[in-house]
Amino acid sequence: MENSMLAAVYKGTPEIELIETKIPEIRSNEVLLKVNAAGICGTDLRILKSGHRRIPDGARIVLGHEVSGEIAGVGSQVIWPKVGMRISVAPNMGCGYCGRCVQGFTQLCGNYFSFGVVIDGAFAQYMRIPSAAIEQGNLAEIAEHVTYEEAAMVEPLSCVFRGLMACRPQPSETVLIIGAGAIGLMFVQLAKMLGARVIVSSRNDERSQQSKRFGADLTFNPKEEDFHEAVFSATGGQGADIAIVAAPSSQAQTNAIEVLAHHGRVNFFGGLPQGNEITPVNANMVHYKELFITGTTGSSIREYRTALSLVDSGQVEVASLVTHRFPLGQIAEAFQVARSKEGIKTIVLPNY
Ligand SMILES: [Zn+2]
Ligand SMILES: [Zn+2]
Repeated sequence: MENSMLAAVYKGTPEIELIETKIPEIRSNEVLLKVNAAGICGTDLRILKSGHRRIPDGARIVLGHEVSGEIAGVGSQVIWPKVGMRISVAPNMGCGYCGRCVQGFTQLCGNYFSFGVVIDGAFAQYMRIPSAAIEQGNLAEIAEHVTYEEAAMVEPLSCVFRGLMACRPQPSETVLIIGAGAIGLMFVQLAKMLGARVIVSSRNDERSQQSKRFGADLTFNPKEEDFHEAVFSATGGQGADIAIVAAPSSQAQTNAIEVLAHHGRVNFFGGLPQGNEITPVNANMVHYKELFITGTTGSSIREYRTALSLVDSGQVEVASLVTHRFPLGQIAEAFQVARSKEGIKTIVLPNY
């Protein structure tokens, strides 16, 4: 069929269905993106496993929110972008007029909508881009030297940037990063860039090696060493100034608080599975050490653009994080690999 495309649809079950469907039609104020790279994120895995608060029962949705591609069509009223432009896409749109939106936090809007969760996303050959995404600055043109795969990594990098800045890192502070997947490894790079000393806790020795390559000063495996002891001995008994929990683990959250220094800050960066959302916290430790507990989710457009410029300028290296690539027809295998934690980042290439 001439006007058809391949799309991977989530239907509320752990299996994604590959279908042939019509290429989305666009209105006069919308554009059509030909998807060239789409990253598989922990959020996608979590949706397949236990759904999402914004996806109602019975809904069918194309997942995928880490996306780059080429403009394949523009509506008659669209001034920018132009057909053929290479684009990376920030996934979250807001209503545009509430307090959080005007502050620039469209991703925290009460009526936010996002590609791959609320509207159809990137695991398809084409993606419809609504006018809000154009008007709110979600589309960014990428330079010739930035690959589509790198551009697809900008979204997770922007979330990492937001996550680290929320902890107000200072040069020479110690940052503990729990988990060394793609996210953890981006935290390592950014924390080093900001002058921190970086400790990584990972159960996966191969990933520990990777984190060293990105500049981690010290790594340890909590399966082999006592977590608390390892952090305190690495910090002269003081504890970490900042702890990032980049793993979906309640136990890791509890542990992170227990190894913070005075005025330490922790970011519960990874969401917990639905139904397992309660984490025990040593409240007296928070009290006597004057700790800060925060979490971050997504990123603002401004943070997205900063992340893009970090990739564009080569200050952050994301290309080598991509270890697996699959055509859309093999998306089931792609998810299998992402789930198995073999390698680091798995990318789907829908028009490969
Ligand atoms: Zn993501
Ligand atoms: Zn809003």
